[in-house]
Amino acid sequence: INQTLELFDLPVLNPAPRPTPEPLTHNAKLWLPKRVLFTPDALKEPFGQQIYERVAAHGLPIEVLKSNRLTGLRGEDARETYRNAKSTLAVVKAPPGALRLQPTPPSADWQMNLAEGCPAHCQYCYLAGSLQGPPVVRVFANLPQLLENTATYEQASRQTSFEVSCYTDVLDIEHLTGSLVECIRYFGNREAAQLRFVTKYDHVEPLLTLPHNGHTRARISLNAEPVARRLEGGTASIEARLQALRKLALPQEQGGGGYPVGVVLAPIMQIPDWRQHYTALLDRIAKALDFKCDLTVEFITHRFTPGSRDVLQQWYPNTPLDFDESTRAIKRNKFGGVKYVYQPEDMRTLRQFFYEEWRQRFPNAPVQYWT
Ligand code: SF4
Repeated sequence: INQTLELFDLPVLNPAPRPTPEPLTHNAKLWLPKRVLFTPDALKEPFGQQIYERVAAHGLPIEVLKSNRLTGLRGEDARETYRNAKSTLAVVKAPPGALRLQPTPPSADWQMNLAEGCPAHCQYCYLAGSLQGPPVVRVFANLPQLLENTATYEQASRQTSFEVSCYTDVLDIEHLTGSLVECIRYFGNREAAQLRFVTKYDHVEPLLTLPHNGHTRARISLNAEPVARRLEGGTASIEARLQALRKLALPQEQGGGGYPVGVVLAPIMQIPDWRQHYTALLDRIAKALDFKCDLTVEFITHRFTPGSRDVLQQWYPNTPLDFDESTRAIKRNKFGGVKYVYQPEDMRTLRQFFYEEWRQRFPNAPVQYWT
């Protein structure tokens, strides 16, 4: 408890509420990896060659590997492996298995991954425990093939949605890859398909003039100020993300992107004074979106698996995140896997708060799901 209180700048012996801290306003720094690896197969792909040009234009050192296997990425210990991996970009050809798409409810019908791994340092990261090996950012050089493959999953009778953010933050690598722009352009021409992405970054300018035709829902991941500033290392400040959200939603004739937009509130945490901090956040969203726009929201509460907790505690040994299983409820998936989620009573309290507060401010913006 003391650790958690310290984390959120609360006096340990005096639990009286303190005001929400002044918002930080920094933009995210462009990620410039220390190592960039290309496999031979990736360089045979025209899109891989485009990535090569972009990386070279940023003056980054490039190594072309002799084989298509990524090896030698581990350091002396888990911390060193983590540090090295988080500053390594590997451009590879996605294996044939990537063409067999997986459903990804409730966010979208299917997931389509343009990359796996992320340079940011969120201490609750959803990828921990789901991706194998060192957390290197792997970008797929055969993206056009992956995009064409999505057409076989479309259904004529209804809109089919594809999520590209399941295993990466698509915007923090965009300056080096151009992959998100490629996806938005592609889906702009698909009548029966919708692209969905989400980011904690703010470099949205290259997206604003694209011919998306309303087929991409651009979502920004937001959280209470204390959570973002203490647990989301390397990402843009909440203020910068709110301004990015505003730019994405504003009509193109007003200099914005004219996108259908979304807010992903995740992971919702029961931190001390959570009502106060999340109320401040919702007020700031309302201020940023003070005009008519196509908006949705997704609510995701904090959860962890035994596997993700073990990985995160290796990556962030001093993390003050609450991993106490005894205060959580167990949720099992259909394969018997275990997740620790908030207790049902806490869930009810949180759910009621967020639904009421959201509907008060955004009566026309549907809640897509609560989980
Ligand atoms: Fe993980 Fe998302 Fe944070 Fe990247 S931005 S470290 S994928 S939680």
